[in-house]
Amino acid sequence: MRDSSSDELTECELCEVVLDPDVDRVFRISDDLVLCPSCASQRGGVYDEERDSWVRFPEVADLVVAEP
Ligand SMILES: [Zn+2]
Repeated sequence: MRDSSSDELTECELCEVVLDPDVDRVFRISDDLVLCPSCASQRGGVYDEERDSWVRFPEVADLVVAEP
């Protein structure tokens, strides 16, 4: 059951777990592409809790499809 009308929750691009960007430390690639913390760290992303930001970005080049 998916409710695409809600823009409060999103899904991880890789494992499709439902995420709340306001609560979860998601890595936002773009407006439509989001990774959960687990997938982001598996791809080399490092989150700094003190800075509250990603100090090392995960490898996402293969997820980003350049549109003409
Ligand atoms: Zn994930």
